[in-house]
Amino acid sequence: MKPIIKKGSKLYSIAHLKCPHCQEGNLFSVSNAYDLKHMLNMPDYCPVCHEDFKVEPGFYSGALWVSYPIVIFILIPLALLQIFCFDIPFVLAFFISLLVMLVLQPLLMRYSRAIWINIFVSYEARS
Ligand SMILES: [Zn+2]
Repeated sequence: MKPIIKKGSKLYSIAHLKCPHCQEGNLFSVSNAYDLKHMLNMPDYCPVCHEDFKVEPGFYSGALWVSYPIVIFILIPLALLQIFCFDIPFVLAFFISLLVMLVLQPLLMRYSRAIWINIFVSYEARS
C-alpha cells in the first residue's frame, strides 16, 4: 500500500514529526508526546543530516503564531457544536472545550513546532 503523504512534501515532515531537511531524523527526542517532562525536548541537530534544529535563540516562540489559529480552528467549532447541537449550557461547554484543549496541548505544541521549522527549512533529498 502506498503512503498517502509522499516523502519530500512539507506535510510528510509535519505529519511524521521528521526533520524538514532529510525527513528521516526525528524532530523530538521522545516519541511519546504525553511524556510531559520531555515532550518538547529536541536534539540540537538532526541525528541523520545534522540540520540545526535550534536555528536561533527563541526560534520556537514563533510557533505560538502557528498554534494560536489551530486552537481557534478547533475550539470555536467545538464550543458551537456543544451549544447548538447538543444544547449544553455555555459554561459547561466552555469547561469541556478547555479540557479537550488541555488534553490536545502536547500534540498542538509539537505540530506547531514542526510547522514552524518547515516554514524556514526545505527538503533536500539525500544522495
Ligand atoms: Zn535531517
